[in-house]
Amino acid sequence: MPDASPDTGKTLLKNGFIADGTGNPGFAGSLIIGNGRIESVIKGIWEESEEPFQSVTDCAGLVIAPGFIDMHSHMDWYLASDKDSRYKTPFIKQGITTMVAGNCGYSAAGLLKGSPHMGLLENNLFKSGFDNIHWNSLEEYYRVVGETGLNYNLVMLAGHGTARTSVCGYSPVPSAGESALIRSLLDGSMQQGAAGVSFGLQYEPGQYCTKEEIAQTARLVKDRNKLLTAHARAYSNISGDYPLIPFGRAHNLKAIDELLQAARETGVKLQISHLIFVGNATHRTCDAALKLIDKAIGEGLDVSFDTYGHHCGVSLINVFLPPWVKSKGAGVFSDKKEIAKIKLLMGVLFKLLGFDYSNIQVLDTRAEAVQQFNGMFLTEIAQKRGMTNFDNYIDLVMKTNSGAVVLMHNYTSGENLNALIRHKASMFMTDSWMEPGEWQNPGVFGSLPRILQRIREKKLLSMEEAVYKLSYACAKKIGLKGRGALLPGNAADIAVLDWDNVRFDIAGACKDGEPSGIKHVFVNGNHMVDDGQISERKKAGSVLRIS
Ligand SMILES: [Zn+2]
Repeated sequence: MPDASPDTGKTLLKNGFIADGTGNPGFAGSLIIGNGRIESVIKGIWEESEEPFQSVTDCAGLVIAPGFIDMHSHMDWYLASDKDSRYKTPFIKQGITTMVAGNCGYSAAGLLKGSPHMGLLENNLFKSGFDNIHWNSLEEYYRVVGETGLNYNLVMLAGHGTARTSVCGYSPVPSAGESALIRSLLDGSMQQGAAGVSFGLQYEPGQYCTKEEIAQTARLVKDRNKLLTAHARAYSNISGDYPLIPFGRAHNLKAIDELLQAARETGVKLQISHLIFVGNATHRTCDAALKLIDKAIGEGLDVSFDTYGHHCGVSLINVFLPPWVKSKGAGVFSDKKEIAKIKLLMGVLFKLLGFDYSNIQVLDTRAEAVQQFNGMFLTEIAQKRGMTNFDNYIDLVMKTNSGAVVLMHNYTSGENLNALIRHKASMFMTDSWMEPGEWQNPGVFGSLPRILQRIREKKLLSMEEAVYKLSYACAKKIGLKGRGALLPGNAADIAVLDWDNVRFDIAGACKDGEPSGIKHVFVNGNHMVDDGQISERKKAGSVLRIS
């Protein structure tokens, strides 16, 4: 006989250990899901009842936690297209149920209709993820991703760089009218449900922002009681974005000063994006950076930051070239005098940073002539080609038209990661996306499991504190109501973990990867990961508008 039990639509997660996301001590219990929501959380051993369930998941020995919120994502560029399902699926295996996207000033939406600068907007680091931008406002973008279907819930930020580029390209100084238009686009996006505004102060056009433009934008965000996230102007003690003053203040600390100043002036809620300390010489500034943040929090400001699970992150091969080199175009590389200047500059920069070519691994050259070097470190490539490191670097920049995607190592030290993870103001993130080629940033597959593994092995936080940082802490920061905690009535976004075995061991570029210990994931009550495997490719996610 087929199963004759009535379809109640209810799901029972039975006899787990509940970490409800608030950071309070966990307890033995069970949880019932009905209609996509948490119906009840029951303490103690489950008493078998007559009540029929559509499905029962035995959670003995497992932690039942809120689904993770990825505090820093760029997946908005990938969610609007159905080109490649690989792009979207690995994140859910990390336990992620909600992504906060549109970071670093680059959001996929919130741009001026009829912008003459679409070429600049479309030719970006994430261009493999979408076909073309066929929307303008956030509202229009929501409609597009709604039609494509979401595997996760999506919270958007309005990118300051996106709005600004759509209005005046990379113009360093917008006119008063253009400035007003940029602000009205950002404000419009916030009214349409963006959680706030993101800055990318190390990239064009964010790097042209004056103190006034930063403060004006921060005030706009504060007026809507929303969140300002910021990719700071520098993440290394020496950066081409500041004048070089011997023995002066470390540039990454100056960049943090600048953000805290805006928070002080306006009272805006601030999230410093991916707090990293690039190069050996920058590592030692971590303590000072955290003290700056502590001081601001002590003054009553709402300041936090997000951090990686790895020591590496993705960038473009030309990231170390100063703006004057980039602005001169490809011709600069055939000018002997200019090349000598660049060589000297790179040598000095790398020496002062404690960073070199051995820290740069090519993920995808995106150029056929040199694609055999995908997955290799620049030093290996130079050796293979019998070239000096510098000549090899310049040749690759030229042959890839500056478009090679690289994985930069030495983003921080193990000791720093411990301090960052443990800090009361830290939240966790992936900052990852999948490349069309074979080689990937390991964060795509295991950023969050790797953080949890580190927390457990090094005893950095209690399990409950770790879960809090991945759920309720983020929900509070972004103003997301009804999620982030396992409370009756909340949406049933849930991750079930084998806490002692959560791990992800791959530290560098990889072709594939699987975290372990993330047993089940529910998105809006839909069982998306079952015993570690994606059981259902149903598009269970929603756009989450922040009011
Ligand atoms: Zn960034």
